[in-house]
Amino acid sequence: MVVKRIFKVALTLATSLLFSGCTKVEWYKGNTHSHTVLCGHADTSPEEVAKWYHNKEYNFLVLSEHNQFIDPRNVEMPENRRDDFILIPGEEVTGGLMAHTTALNIDGLVDPRLQQPPGASKTQVIQAHVHGTEQQNGHAILNHPNFHYMHTASDIRPVEGLHLFELYNGHPAVNNFGDDDHKSVEELWDELLTDGMLIYGVSSDDAHHFQEMSLERSNPGRGWVMVRSEELTPDSITDAIYRGDFYATSGVILGKVDVSNQRISLRVDERATERELASPFVVGHKVNDDAETGYLIEFIGPGGKVLESSRSSQASYSVTNSHSYVRAKISFTRRSQLGSENFYAWMQPVFTDGRKHDR
Ligand SMILES: [Zn+2]
Ligand SMILES: [Zn+2]
Repeated sequence: MVVKRIFKVALTLATSLLFSGCTKVEWYKGNTHSHTVLCGHADTSPEEVAKWYHNKEYNFLVLSEHNQFIDPRNVEMPENRRDDFILIPGEEVTGGLMAHTTALNIDGLVDPRLQQPPGASKTQVIQAHVHGTEQQNGHAILNHPNFHYMHTASDIRPVEGLHLFELYNGHPAVNNFGDDDHKSVEELWDELLTDGMLIYGVSSDDAHHFQEMSLERSNPGRGWVMVRSEELTPDSITDAIYRGDFYATSGVILGKVDVSNQRISLRVDERATERELASPFVVGHKVNDDAETGYLIEFIGPGGKVLESSRSSQASYSVTNSHSYVRAKISFTRRSQLGSENFYAWMQPVFTDGRKHDR
């Protein structure tokens, strides 16, 4: 276990060096959260779920079943399997108090008895999930914090070793964007970041239903991550996600993503975005009907304050020490028969205050 962890740290350091040099890195598309018939409330076998993502050109998938470990070695892959498609072992550790946590790249089952230690607070339940995930050599992603509006920043902030959470989740019941009485998950993110937490935002499907496609169903293809990695292996992809070398998306695809010398530079890949938004599976976020259409890039700092914005598909921003973090959000607004709807890409924050992972 220790050897594997040392190897992971060494790999991360080596990868950081390689990013600045000559090794070719690629972008990989993946979904960290999906369900199968094994949980009892989803409708498709692990093999058919894997096939759906394989056939839609994804590069990786986590079959993250509730309190069950689906060993990828036991999942039969499609006959025509591409070389650039893998399964990453995982589980959705599903506890009381609505705490659900994806255990990413684990060696085996994270004990379901971690669901809810007797009398535990929300913080303690999430902490137990993180520790259980660490014991299986994985990394934890806190899922859908606005499911029943269960988790506030004060529940999440004290959790040690938690550096990933679901900023966007494609399930129709998870309240990504809040309501009149509740904050959006993105506002929650800024609250945590402003308070000094090192936490990156993931986008996932949480797909349960593959047989019938409708807005009311929990369908695949709505949220995913684009990960920059030198290799398509479970360890390499997981390490890249853990160190924040990815962006979250509900449809917008980036062509250039560069952070160097404290300068964030990005450009939307408009053609790739058009392709994604032509998919019948993406779901827009409904906004005011008079919203201006097209791209909007915002650079956002502490308190969720927009520091600079541009009605453009490319922009750059120099991060100074006057802000402890800056992150970029890219929105695309289109008009459809449903009204005006937004799609997003969320880059990970750049920190200036030296905050570090707990381990
Ligand atoms: Zn869940
Ligand atoms: Zn789930």
